[in-house]
Amino acid sequence: MSKKLFIKTYGCQMNVYDSNRMQDLMNACGYENAQSEEDAQMVIINTCHIREKATEKLFSDLGRLQKIKEKKQLNNQEMIVAVAGCVAQAEGEEIFKRAKVADIIVGPESYQTLPDLVGKVIRDKKRQLNLEFIANDKFDKIIAPKAGVNASAFITIQEGCDKFCTFCVVPYTRGAEYCRSVEQVYQEALQYANQGVQEVYFLGQNVNAYKSIDANNQEYSLAKLIEKIASIDKIKRIRYTTSHPRDMSDDLINAHRDIEKLMPFLHLPVQSGSNNILQAMNRKHTRDEYFKIIDKLRKSRPDIGLSSDFIVGFPGETDKDFEETLDLVKKIGFTQCYSFKYSPRHGTPSADSKNQVEEKVKDQRLAVLQELLTSQQVEFNKQFEGKKIKVLFEKEAPKSKKKSEKFDQTITDQNIQIWGKSEWLQSVVVNFENGKKIDELFGKIFEVDVVKSRPSSLIASL
Ligand code: SF4
Repeated sequence: MSKKLFIKTYGCQMNVYDSNRMQDLMNACGYENAQSEEDAQMVIINTCHIREKATEKLFSDLGRLQKIKEKKQLNNQEMIVAVAGCVAQAEGEEIFKRAKVADIIVGPESYQTLPDLVGKVIRDKKRQLNLEFIANDKFDKIIAPKAGVNASAFITIQEGCDKFCTFCVVPYTRGAEYCRSVEQVYQEALQYANQGVQEVYFLGQNVNAYKSIDANNQEYSLAKLIEKIASIDKIKRIRYTTSHPRDMSDDLINAHRDIEKLMPFLHLPVQSGSNNILQAMNRKHTRDEYFKIIDKLRKSRPDIGLSSDFIVGFPGETDKDFEETLDLVKKIGFTQCYSFKYSPRHGTPSADSKNQVEEKVKDQRLAVLQELLTSQQVEFNKQFEGKKIKVLFEKEAPKSKKKSEKFDQTITDQNIQIWGKSEWLQSVVVNFENGKKIDELFGKIFEVDVVKSRPSSLIASL
C-alpha cells in the first residue's frame, strides 16, 4: 500500500520553502501527498515561533492528531507525527514530554535528516530528535526542486541572523547567518527557469546580508548575485525579502536602477520611527539612517514601491515615540505594510522588560497606524487606474464566492477570473467570459489595462 504525507505549514515564505523541501525528501522515499491528515501515514507540522501563542497552537494541533492516530491504530494503521520548524527548535524535548503523539522533533537547520529519522522510528520503534545547526549539510542534501505549475518560485539563499533585535527569536531558533553558495543558487534558479518559472524570490531572514565567494574566488554580494541570476534568459523577474536597513548597501540600491529584472518593490522593515525605541529594540539603525536609505533608493529607482514592518507598543513606547512612527510613515509613504502589537516572546530580552505598554494603548495605537497605512495603500493603488501595467498571471481564482469577494467581483457561471501579480507586488485580477481559452495565460507576463483599484488589489482587463 502506498504511504501518504500531509504537511501543515505555519509562518513565512521561508517555512513554505522548507516544507516543500521536506515534501521532496519524503516523496523520494515513496510518500505521496495526502489531501488531509486523516488520509496520511505521516504528518509534519512545520511551526513558526513568530506567531503569537505558537506553542499553544502546536499542542492543540498535536491533541487533534492524537485522536486521529488512535482511530488509525484501532484499524491497525500507523501514523508518524513529526514536529519541525522554530517551535520544535525552541521547545525540543518538552514536546515529547507533553505530547505522546509526537514521534520526531526536527529543527529548521536539520530537516535534511528526516528520511533517516523516519527510518529509525519505523525500525527501532523509538522517538527521534535532531536539533543540530548544520545548514551547509542541509542545502547539500535537499533535492532539486520541482516548480509544479507555479509561475514564481522561492529560493532560500541565506538563513539565520546575527542582529539580535531584542524582541525576536530568530537568532536563537535559526542560528547564525549562513549564506548558500553562488553555484547552488544559480543551479536552483536554472532548474526552475527550465521548468517554466518566470519569477524568483530570494529568501533569507537577512537576505541582503548575503555574501559568498565563488569557485573563481570572486566575492558576491546580493547585488552581484541578482546580476548573475538576471543573466538567465528565461527568468524575467527577481525579488528578495526580508532585508535589514543596516545591510542596504549602495551596490544593492544601484541594482534597483541598473537591473531591469529586479522589480521596483522593496520590503524594508523599520519597526519604529523613534530613535529611543529603535535603540531599545537593538535595531542597529536610526530614523535618519532609514530616511537616507529611502532617499537614495528613490533617486536610484523613482517608481519603487516601499513596504515595511511596524511594531507598536514596544516596552517603553511613549505617545511621543508613537507620534514619531506616524511622522515617519507620513514622510515616506508606503505601498503595503505589516503592523502588529508588540507581544513578548519567551526567552527574548524585551519579554522581561518592566516597561510593558497597556493592551488598551497598544490597540488604540495599532488602529491609528493601520488607518494611516491603509490610506497610503489605497492612494498608491488608485494612481494605477487607467494605466497599462505588466502582470505575471498565476492561477484561476477559486470558485468560492468568499474568496472572489476580495476583489469586489463575484464569479458566476458566465465568468472566470485569473489572478496575477504586478511589478509592485499588487494582486491583479482579470475577468473573462466562461469558455474563453485562458490556459496559455498562466505563467506568462501580459500587459493589462487597470480599470479599477481596490485597497489590496487591482481589477484589470486584458
Ligand atoms: S534582524 Fe530580523 S531576524 Fe534578525 S533579530 Fe532582528 S527582527 Fe529578528
